[in-house]
Amino acid sequence: MKGKIKRRVAALAVAATVLLAFTACNDSAAKEEYFEVFGTTLCITTANAEEAERAALEMQNTELAVSAAIADSDIGRINAAAAGESVVVGDITMQLLRKAYRAYELTDGAYDPTVAPLVELWGFAAGDFVQGVAPEKLPSAEEVAAERGKVGFDRAFRLDPESNSVEKLIEGAMLDLGGIAKGDAVARSLGGFTGECLVNLGGNIGGVGKDHRIGIGAPRPSEKAYIGIVTLHSGECISTSGDYERYYEKDGKRYHHIIDPFTGRPADSGLISVTVICRDGALGDALSTAIMVAGEEKGREWLDALSAEYPEIAAVFVHEDLTTATWGRDMQAA
Ligand code: AMP
Ligand code: MG
Repeated sequence: MKGKIKRRVAALAVAATVLLAFTACNDSAAKEEYFEVFGTTLCITTANAEEAERAALEMQNTELAVSAAIADSDIGRINAAAAGESVVVGDITMQLLRKAYRAYELTDGAYDPTVAPLVELWGFAAGDFVQGVAPEKLPSAEEVAAERGKVGFDRAFRLDPESNSVEKLIEGAMLDLGGIAKGDAVARSLGGFTGECLVNLGGNIGGVGKDHRIGIGAPRPSEKAYIGIVTLHSGECISTSGDYERYYEKDGKRYHHIIDPFTGRPADSGLISVTVICRDGALGDALSTAIMVAGEEKGREWLDALSAEYPEIAAVFVHEDLTTATWGRDMQAA
């Protein structure tokens, strides 16, 4: 095992992990182990502390490669590069970029990791953002249009898997894998557990060894912390995207961290939370982000199209008026 593992104390972790979680393990020896990864809390419930540590360390190594917030990560170096430069990246980064590219194509560009300049413009980049605190001035239409000119995965970057390199084609183009990296990390970790376990990385959850009951967090303050409960089968992952995770309000309007690449503004599709279940954690994570952008109707079309390859795929939509709808799996009352 290389590197030093970053652990987090349980009390802190509990305060930070409220989006989406809860289940009980049959295995009475199972314990919750807390770590710090991707700027959030990783909670692994398992009887095997060594397997949990190994999974956490692997995720922390992935973070060092793909985090935009780390200047010398692969993504940090790509973001700092000038147009025309090619940056050689590690295997983990290239694999994730290829998954991101597939998600970009499958969602007709609604999931697009090149929205990074817009994420920054609206004040949601890691490091800039404090929950609930609005910038003094919102971006102007001209500023939005200028940053939108740097967006579009198919035209802003060229991936070359042969040489493991990424060429920047548009000056100022940047990548942000925040909409896919956590779901991918959870899914990849599941193969490392020999017994029952539940992996919760800041609201992206995967389970093995048995069915787990997962509560879907209420997107607005309410009496109940959960809007409902879904069953997650062994080997499946679940990801939620919502307008309540990172947001601020200005002049009575909410601005949140999921950006519509076509308007350049925070997504406004009538949905305030989307949950996707899929054994491919990267795809499920990217889809939940993309459906927030493109809306329920488009989301249902994508789910239909993907269900032959992923028969387990399922979703829960929460509308602006707080009504809910499901696709592919029932939700029980919380
Ligand atoms: P998630 O919570 O998985 O929906 O991911 C949201 C994060 O993904 C944001 O904080 C941004 O870093 C990034 N992001 C925002 N909008 C998009 C988009 N349309 N496509 C891909 N990534 C996005
Ligand atoms: Mg996502």
